Amino acid sequence: MSLDLTTLYLVSAMVTGMSGLLFLLDMRGRPDPALRWWGLAFLFAITPAVIYALAGQAPEFVVLNPIGNGLVVAGSSLLWVGARAFSHKRTPVVAWVGPAVLAAALPFALEQPLVTWSGFPLLAGGVVVFNMLAALECWRPVGPRMRNHVVLAVAWAGGSVFYLFRLVAFVAFGPDDPRFALAFGSEAATICVLLLIVISSFSMVALGKEVSEAALKQAATRDGLTGVLNRSEFTRLAEREIRDAGERDEGYALLLLDLDHFKRINDTHGHAIGDEVLAGVATAVSRCLGPRDLFCRYGGEEFAALLPGATPDVAGVVAERVLRAVRGVMVWTPAGPLRPTTSIGISAANVESIDLGALMRVADIALYRAKRGGRDRAEGGGEGAEALPKTLQNA
Ligand code: GH3
Ligand code: MG
Ligand code: MG
Repeated sequence: MSLDLTTLYLVSAMVTGMSGLLFLLDMRGRPDPALRWWGLAFLFAITPAVIYALAGQAPEFVVLNPIGNGLVVAGSSLLWVGARAFSHKRTPVVAWVGPAVLAAALPFALEQPLVTWSGFPLLAGGVVVFNMLAALECWRPVGPRMRNHVVLAVAWAGGSVFYLFRLVAFVAFGPDDPRFALAFGSEAATICVLLLIVISSFSMVALGKEVSEAALKQAATRDGLTGVLNRSEFTRLAEREIRDAGERDEGYALLLLDLDHFKRINDTHGHAIGDEVLAGVATAVSRCLGPRDLFCRYGGEEFAALLPGATPDVAGVVAERVLRAVRGVMVWTPAGPLRPTTSIGISAANVESIDLGALMRVADIALYRAKRGGRDRAEGGGEGAEALPKTLQNA
């Protein structure tokens, strides 16, 4: 079987063009800058195939080959730039334009006359390096790793390894050796690149969707200002946790926090400082809690934490830790540093009598007592209150 290389190049350009179009249509309206770089990578990937097809038509067109090589390197490096943009990293233009220009221009400077394979090591070297860099960047993105990050990383690493073998075979056997031509010649490479482009385009589209869905889920379940769970998601998770508690035979504790004199903070320093305090407190309290604990912004300047498996004793210790952590929050204002405090109401229940609503009501009453008692303190209430540390027991 023999393949007509020109036809193969043109098919490759068409498939790349259609994949790029599919991708560009899908990414319309998606703001992620990575998608723009990858859209550009598609544009760069269409042209080399056309250029190689033209270069194969007559010996005098051989000069087009290094230009095609430069465009292939540019396409490969844009995968890397896009993957970095996905992780909110900027890449200097020279880092991707430089190698592409080098791959295109160096053969003209070094080789006279140009031959068909002129500049191949530069092309292969560029693809090996940039595809691998793009794969690594996608394998370990900053932020959550999506399923399609993995697909892209594997596909691009595969492309890098294929070009590495091509490069080694080129150096070891030369381009005219039948072994090179069979496994690593232009036909094999074009089919390999074609496959990679199809896999990449579908995975990029799917990744865009995965990211949008994750953003929607984040917006639906998290508080926009502090990043902790919102009230409805907290309630959903807490009720599920409590439903499953029967099997585990363990109790629960709930901490209800209400920042002290928060209205005064807003009135004195403005809403923006108030927001900063809320975000700082949320971060500080999150750090005091364990991986099983649920923590949410319950409303305005109130937070709630459900501590599965916590005895009243443990809840008291956690509450003291939270009080200390909130005292440690410092927000700079034009009038100097501001240190907020919080009051905490604690309720605890054993496994037979758990009910989130009841836990909340008891914690709310305890919280009121903490406010009345002078603020910046925790009070315990309800069933199990007698087991709370002395300082937290009912007055
Ligand atoms: P206390 O110690 O008794 O709790 O006094 P307080 O001033 O904290 O109590 P109050 O409940 O009267 O005040 C809550 C304030 O929280 C009122 C509201 O303006 C403010 N607030 C609620 N949500 C936000 C928010 O998202 N950002 C900011 N900056 N302020 C908020
Ligand atoms: Mg309040
Ligand atoms: Mg308050």
